[in-house]
Amino acid sequence: MKSKLSVVCIVVTLTLYSNILFGWGAWGHKHINRSAVFALPVEMRIFYYNHIDFITEGSFVPDMRRALLNDKAEPARHFIDIEDFGVQADSLPRTVKDANAKYDSVFLQKSGYLPWYIQTLMDRLTLAFTRKNRSEIIFLSAELGHYLGDAHVPLHTSSNYDGQLTNQKGIHSFWESRLPETFGGTYNFYTGDAKYIDDLVSETWRIIKHSDVLVDTLLIAERQLRASYPKDSLYKTDETGKPVMRFNQPVLSDKYAAKYHAALKGMVENQMRLSAADLSNFWYTAWVNGGKPDLNGMDDPGLINQNKKNYRREMKAWHKGRLLNLKTEQE
Ligand SMILES: [Zn+2]
Repeated sequence: MKSKLSVVCIVVTLTLYSNILFGWGAWGHKHINRSAVFALPVEMRIFYYNHIDFITEGSFVPDMRRALLNDKAEPARHFIDIEDFGVQADSLPRTVKDANAKYDSVFLQKSGYLPWYIQTLMDRLTLAFTRKNRSEIIFLSAELGHYLGDAHVPLHTSSNYDGQLTNQKGIHSFWESRLPETFGGTYNFYTGDAKYIDDLVSETWRIIKHSDVLVDTLLIAERQLRASYPKDSLYKTDETGKPVMRFNQPVLSDKYAAKYHAALKGMVENQMRLSAADLSNFWYTAWVNGGKPDLNGMDDPGLINQNKKNYRREMKAWHKGRLLNLKTEQE
């Protein structure tokens, strides 16, 4: 019932608000959040596994909220258009306080607030651990996964976010949704154990800067491929030979998607795996900084027992790079 409802909501969302650019898409966000659970130390992992379905499904809620609710503060949390600030990423205000002191809220709403919102969420999650607030820990962990995932999508860091300035409109969802949905079945999600982060602010900016560096790479790769690709097999066609349209744009062919995916040399898979690894590191760091509360004691021992068998299976699969029990509407 729960998953059926979420599928309906997502379909409605995407149909009505197709002009909004999402991070990763439901497939990607769900895989990232689920994968991150298995890299946690055992003191956290059992608790997170007890709530893994909420953490998985909740990964896509911020995009649904963005599309369906008229909350003016929400859209800017998903991106940062670095060029709008007129300086290199290194010269941007590092903390929430500095950003709010330097820029007014109208500018930040327009140009994006993603790195600073990640810091805000980390403060809230750390506080939830300190206060041993079980429901806040679960909710904020799922939320953080979304925005940290968005931070790993290169086009979420650029004002050329849909290739609209370089005649590549449509590349945003092509890169972040179509490619992982089509080729993600072979991705390896094993990340190794979570690591403590000494300097969260620097780490947040390292992630953003790394994503930003990839913007040119992915745009150039697509331009080069398109220049050499036969025009008559660029788009999917229907039985009459007309291009198949989606959201008022012609849909690129499966062969073209495969060529572009190959030309990116593992970039999409890598960014997904890094999203999961970094999410695990952030959760772990918030837990340590929040005083390492006993999480297992927060759940009914019966629940832990009930989940034991599935947990073992999923943990084993994750060590081989696979995620189980994760069906989305695209699969
Ligand atoms: Zn988003």
